[in-house]
Amino acid sequence: MKKSILSSFLIIILSACSGEATENQVVEINKNSSTNEVNIYSARKGYLLKPLLVEFEKDTNIKVNIISGKSKALQKRIEQEGENTRADVLLTVDAGNLYKAKYDGLLQSINSEKLNKLIPSHLRDIDGYWYGLSIRSRVIMYNPKKVNVNELSTYEDLANPKWKGRICIRSSGNIYNQSLLASLVSHLGVNKAEDWARKVVGNFSRKPKGNDRTQMTSVVLEECDITLANTYYLGKWITSEKKDERKYAKMIAVFFPNQINRGTHINISGAAIVKYSKNTGNALKLIEYLAGKKAQELYAKANHEYPIRENIEVSDTVKSWGYPFKQDTLSLNELGKNNKKAVEIFDKVNWQ
Ligand code: FE
Repeated sequence: MKKSILSSFLIIILSACSGEATENQVVEINKNSSTNEVNIYSARKGYLLKPLLVEFEKDTNIKVNIISGKSKALQKRIEQEGENTRADVLLTVDAGNLYKAKYDGLLQSINSEKLNKLIPSHLRDIDGYWYGLSIRSRVIMYNPKKVNVNELSTYEDLANPKWKGRICIRSSGNIYNQSLLASLVSHLGVNKAEDWARKVVGNFSRKPKGNDRTQMTSVVLEECDITLANTYYLGKWITSEKKDERKYAKMIAVFFPNQINRGTHINISGAAIVKYSKNTGNALKLIEYLAGKKAQELYAKANHEYPIRENIEVSDTVKSWGYPFKQDTLSLNELGKNNKKAVEIFDKVNWQ
């Protein structure tokens, strides 16, 4: 058993170095494979999965192999491999990505009473093609030296001219902002969502550049006053080995928008069974395991995320921002459904 765990994680290390998994690694998986196995194509980092998968292998005697890579690249690869794919489970982030995988015909429907019972219906696909496994929230992060918390209220308020030149944000090419705008399309309608996006662009302090952490750094360095970022990035700073990041973490604060009405926008990381999986039974066992109590505690904590189920402990770091908070219960199916519209709006208002 020890040897099989080692071989699994050797693959993660290899793929982490090269960024994406290569064909050679598939060969390696085949060489080490036994009949009782499950192959994961994972857009999630290896360190998030390792403690869970060691337990899973021990409990079930099912050998787990992982190919890691970027979400888009993995989905493309599953598509290209078609019937010959080794992939059983796709683990990725954002309901927008999972929705696309379903509509590209990469997944198969799961019929699991257990998953349907454990995972709230707004956090899974309407036809059982994908299931959320952890929750992340896209919040306002602000510089408390520049912003009085009383100035903050809702996502809609970011369109207010009082924020002129004060908002920095990442580009619209990223799925996180696409999914947020898709949620606004659902809540406000297309016209109001477009009006919002146009006004937010008018409040930018600079052109969008960099990832969530780039924006947070700009807030700390007073290049802008507020941004939108996923909560776990601050968790990473708080627990970072880098002194600068720990220092920055103390200079930025979290605000959960829309607590006064529908709740803060959330998204998921999730799992699905690949259409041409050769080990569907094991794939289902793995996903059910990840939704279980023990796995949920570890999985959410490892990346400073929120569990998908109620009555599961969150980390102290996550608690320190305020927990529980009111979460938007919009079905995440809507994020995928409105993705195209959101991208169109971003282009139209020149968000960049
Ligand atoms: Fe992220």
